[in-house]
Amino acid sequence: MKYPKLLEPLDLGFTTIKNRAIMGSMHTGLEEIEGGFERMAAYFAERAANDIGMIITGGIAPNEESSSHGARMSNDEEAAKHRLVTDAVHTAAPDVKICMQILHPGPLAYTPDCVGPSAVKSRIARYVPNELDKAGIEKQIGDHVRCAVMAKKAGYDGVEIIGSAGYLISTFLVQKTNLREDEYGGSYENRIRFAIEIVERTRAAVGEDFILIFRIAAMDMLEDGMSWDEIVTLAKALEKAGVTIISTHFTWHESAVPTIATMVPRAAFTSVTGRLRKAINVPVITSNRINMPDVAEEVLARGDADLVSMARPMLADSAFMRKAIEGREDEINTCIACNQACLDHTFSGKLTSCLVNPRACHETMLNYLPAAVVKSIAVIGAGPAGLAYATVAAERGHKVTLFEASSEIGGQFNLAKRIPGKEEFYETLRYYGRMLEVLKVDVRLNTSASLDELKAENFDHIIIATGITPRTPDIEGIDHPMVAKYIDVITGKRAVGNKVAIIGAGGIGFDVCELVSHSGPSGALDRDVFAREWGIDFENHPRGGVTGVEPIVARSKREVTMIQRKDSKVGAGLGKTTGWTHRLSLTRRGINMINGANYDRIDDEGLHITVNNNPILIEADTIIVCAGQDPKRDLYEILMAEGLPAELVGGAFEAKELDAKAAIKQASEMAAVI
Ligand code: NAP
Ligand code: SF4
Repeated sequence: MKYPKLLEPLDLGFTTIKNRAIMGSMHTGLEEIEGGFERMAAYFAERAANDIGMIITGGIAPNEESSSHGARMSNDEEAAKHRLVTDAVHTAAPDVKICMQILHPGPLAYTPDCVGPSAVKSRIARYVPNELDKAGIEKQIGDHVRCAVMAKKAGYDGVEIIGSAGYLISTFLVQKTNLREDEYGGSYENRIRFAIEIVERTRAAVGEDFILIFRIAAMDMLEDGMSWDEIVTLAKALEKAGVTIISTHFTWHESAVPTIATMVPRAAFTSVTGRLRKAINVPVITSNRINMPDVAEEVLARGDADLVSMARPMLADSAFMRKAIEGREDEINTCIACNQACLDHTFSGKLTSCLVNPRACHETMLNYLPAAVVKSIAVIGAGPAGLAYATVAAERGHKVTLFEASSEIGGQFNLAKRIPGKEEFYETLRYYGRMLEVLKVDVRLNTSASLDELKAENFDHIIIATGITPRTPDIEGIDHPMVAKYIDVITGKRAVGNKVAIIGAGGIGFDVCELVSHSGPSGALDRDVFAREWGIDFENHPRGGVTGVEPIVARSKREVTMIQRKDSKVGAGLGKTTGWTHRLSLTRRGINMINGANYDRIDDEGLHITVNNNPILIEADTIIVCAGQDPKRDLYEILMAEGLPAELVGGAFEAKELDAKAAIKQASEMAAVI
């Protein structure tokens, strides 16, 4: 067996978890939409049928003050809907456990009725919370207990109570949000009382044969956050109060340290869980950036945890565990930690899905069923759109030929993988490369499909996934020898000088800026570099893991200026949950960012712009153009003129705002119905 630790059952005494892999909690948005529970049932059942050990649902609020419009379990009617989910999971796999997460956001709830231990507003909250009086505290405890009892009635095997992230329970634990002077504030013993009473009373109400997980912030990443002794004290008290398992979480949402972005090294935080595991007796769960079975196996083998939680990797590939069991890990569609279709969607009020797997949370709507009539299909271009189309069509039984003009598959992914902090893109390329083999796609590299060739082979259908051409802006002097295309810079074809101006500050502008201002090893591959750059002390664990630890960021050796015409903040269009990390790290590196610019001209001195009517010269020896793209459609137009059955997909269809998420989704949806 290749993953002996990952596949080992965990005996909890009254029940057994069949392996050590947990699908971690993730809000999907399905909880709140019409017909969402049916879709959630299919989403979870598919993961259960593919051998995940235990599932934790997205957060469910225990009362009205914890959710203005979100999913709630506070009465029988709300609880009844969950039967669809628990029945579907237990029918798909009777030996898979499903626990419901009880999430009381406290001061982070989107309602003016939100509550907290004290009227202290979080930096990221909408409202100042209403300070709870004693009766209010009693009600919150009672509502948690009622919610757990209802979850049991609804068929769940357990609950996870979240006591981290800046949600209600965690705000009782730390002094900055708990200014109370009664028995729920002041001393640490008092501050943990709320958490402990919830657990004690929940355990008493649900009985012994029900999984009770409590999620703590084992490193909250807050200045003056919890000390290590306080974390251990809390964990021991929770154990005594009756938890079955302690789950470790890292960070509060308001902290300015990335903990799950792609720039975070794999399994960066598990040693913290390992330290806690030594201090307590109940099993512990670890999490964060564990995205492949070998990473999970190493974490378990090191003794860092008893169970490994993977939330996003289960979105990316519902058959993750089945493939691990069968030794087909090279077929796993790996989560690249981009957040683009999951958390960025969640925090923008959109349904969660996955960039690399658009079926995630759409299991009842997007299926790759065997084709009724097998067709011969030519796909031109092996970028994200072409790869997605080719693999989905081939999975459905079509005979697919994939033409790629260059010597490798990947298109724009081959650029992304070269950016420090984006090394996970190699996994996506590995996945597609392997799937093309498994599905027996006829891959023709170094081949620009010609009209004659396509005609000669008489394809039933031709998919044009030829991608984009970088836009050349109309600026005087744009032909100057110091001007470079971003593709040439990223692929290393073009040398870069010491004074760099970047025209355009979209996703590519930021990637190029990262590349040219970076020195030394990538933080995503080196945990010590990551810790230094973000001011984390894993070993000594000062309060919050960060208190008093200054980030040490190597300043850019090059003088770099990134420019955009829009007045909005530079980088405002980047991902909601990750954009700030890019802005912050580039600012710390000393990058100059200019908005509201007018491009005047380029000459031997550099780039001349005007900002607020002031002419500015950005002295440069290299000017890199990252000004977006236009569709590349030459072949399509030729085929159309000849009346061949061609269809556009991805960047060739629409280059504006195009990204891999849109390209893969569009291509998969098209290939699902051909
Ligand atoms: P983009 O995000 O549309 O940005 C294009 C940039 O060029 C903008 O800053 C725009 O700003 C500027 N621009 C547009 N037309 C211009 C013109 N005629 N002259 C001068 N400047 C011009 O495009 P991209 O950066 O090429 O990225 C392509 C896609 O890939 C995007 O959807 C992007 O989100 C995605 N991507 C995402 C990531 C990521 O990390 N999430 C990374 C790479 C790429 P002004 O118009 O204000 O000047
Ligand atoms: Fe992972 Fe990105 Fe998919 Fe989210 S959208 S699950 S981060 S690959």
